[in-house]
Amino acid sequence: MYAFEYLKPKTIDEAKALFADNPDGKFLSGGHTLLPAMKLRLAGPSALIDLGAVDGMRGIERKGDVVVIGAGMKHGEVAESDVLKAAIPALAAIVGTIGDPAVRHRGTIGGSIANNDPSADYAAAALALGATIVTDSRRIAADEYFTGLFSTALEEGEIVTAVEFPIPKRMGYQKFRNPASRYALCGVCVAETASGEVRVTVVGAGADGVFRVTEFEAALAREFSAKAIEGIAVDEGGMASDIHADQEYRAHLVVVMAKRAVAAAK
Ligand SMILES: Cc1cc2nc3c(=O)[nH]c(=O)nc-3n(C[C@H](O)[C@H](O)[C@H](O)COP(=O)(O)OP(=O)(O)OC[C@H]3O[C@@H](n4cnc5c(N)ncnc54)[C@H](O)[C@@H]3O)c2cc1C
Repeated sequence: MYAFEYLKPKTIDEAKALFADNPDGKFLSGGHTLLPAMKLRLAGPSALIDLGAVDGMRGIERKGDVVVIGAGMKHGEVAESDVLKAAIPALAAIVGTIGDPAVRHRGTIGGSIANNDPSADYAAAALALGATIVTDSRRIAADEYFTGLFSTALEEGEIVTAVEFPIPKRMGYQKFRNPASRYALCGVCVAETASGEVRVTVVGAGADGVFRVTEFEAALAREFSAKAIEGIAVDEGGMASDIHADQEYRAHLVVVMAKRAVAAAK
């Protein structure tokens, strides 16, 4: 084991100050990504700044046309939230598919959104709904936030404090899981927003992380049915390839999952 400091601030200001004093430190939320990365020596922070006790980062609240989820909320709490189930049932269902009970017991929305794993279910939902990522210093539209594999618009030391999800007219998500890790080999989210815009997002399949499929969006805007995207292919060249699935297979999965997501949307 290598040495690191463990710090537990109670406020955002304190957390920011600790980060300023420990520029090689890392914020810790559920630890379900960071701790495995440390065990594998892929990360070696000088300090862990635990956000678990920081004020103002918890809760799920409907505010008019949006649902605001505090960054410290664990996946299990979000999936079981009556407020969310009433306002955006599809989002509660999506979060209920993350990992397994142990992962959902510790992992948080803030950690998932900050980490931007290419297979993260939250990324698919946030981009499909046109969510706003709220940080300690600003508000970032999802369209500007997800910038590539494990890459976001967050600055060094910026803390995600909440995510605001606009309530859609309907939404559906389907994922083809890797049976071992439970992560999406391909997950497709389809949403019709309150203003009638159709947005289609994909995780797990793209070589550059979460992305939108504008050809599907245009077809579904004309007719919201699985039939409407029949025959539209996605570019294999933009797909990821690994021991689990090659580019051709992932491109095929995008179409199949998209049709199922449209059929499931409500
Ligand atoms: C076995 C397993 C299966 C999984 N399956 C899935 C799955 O099916 N779908 C899925 O989407 N995810 C899955 N995950 C990932 C899981 O959702 C993680 O919980 C999540 O990616 C990270 O959240 P965390 O709270 O654990 O973050 P941590 O591990 O604590 O932190 C992750 C990163 O984000 C930073 N960070 C944390 N919180 C903040 C914040 N508020 N502001 C700024 N930076 C922050 C940390 O410094 C770190 O770099 C799985 C994980 C495991 C171990």
